[in-house]
Amino acid sequence: MASTATKGLTKAQIGKFRQQLEDKDKEIRASLETSRAGKALIGEQTQNLEDLPVQAHEEWIFLNRNSIDASLLREVEEALERIEEGSYGECMDCDEPISTKRLEAIPWARYCISCQEELAAIEADSRLAENKPRF
Ligand SMILES: [Zn+2]
Repeated sequence: MASTATKGLTKAQIGKFRQQLEDKDKEIRASLETSRAGKALIGEQTQNLEDLPVQAHEEWIFLNRNSIDASLLREVEEALERIEEGSYGECMDCDEPISTKRLEAIPWARYCISCQEELAAIEADSRLAENKPRF
């Protein structure tokens, strides 16, 4: 193996993160299955949204949670791909190694803390701009 692959992380650490990612992958898939089933059920019950404001709100939470799960699943799968490619643990923006502490908290982290904070600030701005009332 070339020394450029997986900077700073030992094989054992990578193995541990891979295990965590695989567990998370399964967990999200299971939760998506559940909410898909729940969504179908709620969909049948809420033909008249005006009559059932509480249920409509619950449905919105369901949908919202579903989309969070789906995007997390994508991040987890991308992290597993990076393990295969040997680029796991590097920031996708500045190429610096992501700290082990950060990976332990978020094994699917794509960016180092400083890049992540910059991105979060940009995202928060654009989300505010897009966030028009739905009802
Ligand atoms: Zn970075």
